[in-house]
Amino acid sequence: MDRTLVLLPLLILSLVGYCNGFATTEYLATVAYPLKGTRFHDTMTKTAICKIQYDWLVRHTKLKTLKKPKTLLYESCGYMQWGVTLGKTFLVARIAMEELAKASFAPDVDPETKNDPIHHFDSDLLLNKANDRLITVRNNILKVFEDPNADYVDLRKTVGYSLHTLQDFYSHTNWIEMKKKKPNWNIARKADLGVPIAPLDMATCSDCKQDLTPEQKKDADDWANSITNQVFEALSMDFNASNVFICKDNILANGHLTSGYFSTEAKVAPKISAYKKCSHGGGFDASVQITARGGINKDTNTFLYSPHYYLHNAASDMAVRATIDYLEGLRRAIKDEQKFGRFIGMIS
Ligand SMILES: [Zn+2]
Repeated sequence: MDRTLVLLPLLILSLVGYCNGFATTEYLATVAYPLKGTRFHDTMTKTAICKIQYDWLVRHTKLKTLKKPKTLLYESCGYMQWGVTLGKTFLVARIAMEELAKASFAPDVDPETKNDPIHHFDSDLLLNKANDRLITVRNNILKVFEDPNADYVDLRKTVGYSLHTLQDFYSHTNWIEMKKKKPNWNIARKADLGVPIAPLDMATCSDCKQDLTPEQKKDADDWANSITNQVFEALSMDFNASNVFICKDNILANGHLTSGYFSTEAKVAPKISAYKKCSHGGGFDASVQITARGGINKDTNTFLYSPHYYLHNAASDMAVRATIDYLEGLRRAIKDEQKFGRFIGMIS
């Protein structure tokens, strides 16, 4: 059967939610050619989980010959080699990884969360609220670990949803443009994000000139007219080539933390031109037309969806490091290797 047809149900499932956050799921790259090379939420979660599982395995087997994950190369996990060395299938580990990966892209698909800026670290005035929510959820997660009858499938879902928001922080805010070298340790742990946040009356972006070359303009028009994009349109995901901007040095507030506004979230957090805030940006985001025009997201490695696409790899690498820190932080807080081992699927 034609590969596109096989993938169509998956495509539809994933595209329904493809409107917010790091590009949602890696299935998209198989059918949407501009997204080739993008690191998706599930890509990042899998690479982080592999490192956490490997570390657990080395602590418990003391084996130095196990294939070590090259985390920021985003290679698939070495289950096969681990399995041959240890005579195990690692089936439960694979399932745990898949559950966490799926939950880490779900907030872009779930109707309850997909247009809620708090789940995606959007809108600078809601950054603290997003962090407060992550703190509450983390405290609840730690309580669940205390329960001897904890449902680990549910727990993975809750953790995965938090990982989504955590990962979006690096592609939606200006943390990368602030030239930060490490993930923000305070996220999900401290009420203060550790950096000043741009207040309401602070202009955070300047109007960005669209500045597309004739070739880039053609690329945007070709994608807008492609069959795959027609599926997007049929799902009310209106990609508009006139919303495509490539922006450089358009953030005015790099001493302050800021984030983008997104037209799909306008009911909760409208972008108001008088405040000159940044947009999320990309072909789906109609708010790019409101001053300050353009956008700042680093969700994908294509200018079609990300005005700061050239910082995508830096943002995704930082998000992977943050994901590892978050999971390692849970392990240290739980202080129970067996429970944590069950959570990451290393013990059935
Ligand atoms: Zn998101």
